[in-house]
Amino acid sequence: MIWAATILTLYPEMFPGPLGQSLAGRAMAEGGWSLEAVNIRDFATDKHRSVDDTPAGGGPGMVLRVDVLARAVDAARERNPAAPVLAMSPRGAPLTQARVRELAAGPGVTLLCGRFEGFDERLFEGRGVEPVSIGDYILSGGETAALVLLDACVRLLPGVMGAPSSGEQESFESGLLEYPHYTRPPAWEGRTIPEVLRSGDHARIDAWRLAQAETDTRLRRPDLWERYDSVRVRSPSGARRKNKDEKA
Ligand code: SAH
Repeated sequence: MIWAATILTLYPEMFPGPLGQSLAGRAMAEGGWSLEAVNIRDFATDKHRSVDDTPAGGGPGMVLRVDVLARAVDAARERNPAAPVLAMSPRGAPLTQARVRELAAGPGVTLLCGRFEGFDERLFEGRGVEPVSIGDYILSGGETAALVLLDACVRLLPGVMGAPSSGEQESFESGLLEYPHYTRPPAWEGRTIPEVLRSGDHARIDAWRLAQAETDTRLRRPDLWERYDSVRVRSPSGARRKNKDEKA
């Protein structure tokens, strides 16, 4: 069975979009994963095929109807019963690389894309749907969020990325941002590549990269740094990762 994504959306023509290109697109063309975009409107039953209604309690905008969404989810579950059903929502738990890894290791995903004010809340418990956010900002619809989630999963599928190891040193995998990268030319507008990277001394290069990753994480992502630092201080194996010019 190949990794299968089902997207429930009011705009199926937005898919595969960017995922039809580059590595993800090639992997899809070669049968490494599949994507089916299903129109939520196909599950409306009234003559206007309406999918939304005004919010209970008043307020602006429209809300996606639970009965229509539930029929769409049920149809997707019939197609891929083992795939978790996630709804893209700024009210969900923030997506992490760890969750992406779990999803990529499974049979696939069913993703619900919201529009307007979002989903009738009863859907989540009623159908065991997990709300997921891609960050603390508001998009106009869940489709771009679904593309983000799928991109993150598909690049981890076996055979999609060129070098199998290049997924492992990335930002977040170690709890740190990744170290900075450089390539030719060695001098550009008076800026040079750090000397250590041209030394050929791999132990020194590794130590330099770890120190850079730690500094950048501390300065740019104090939230990640706090978690990493507390684990490192507590664990005996983590202590060995300390850089030699850092105080113990
Ligand atoms: N009124 C809602 C926002 C609705 S935005 C609220 O304040 O919570 C419309 C749709 O865009 C949502 O239903 C969701 O599917 C999608 N969306 C917006 N921001 C998102 C985010 N940060 N992560 C995931 N999906 C998001």
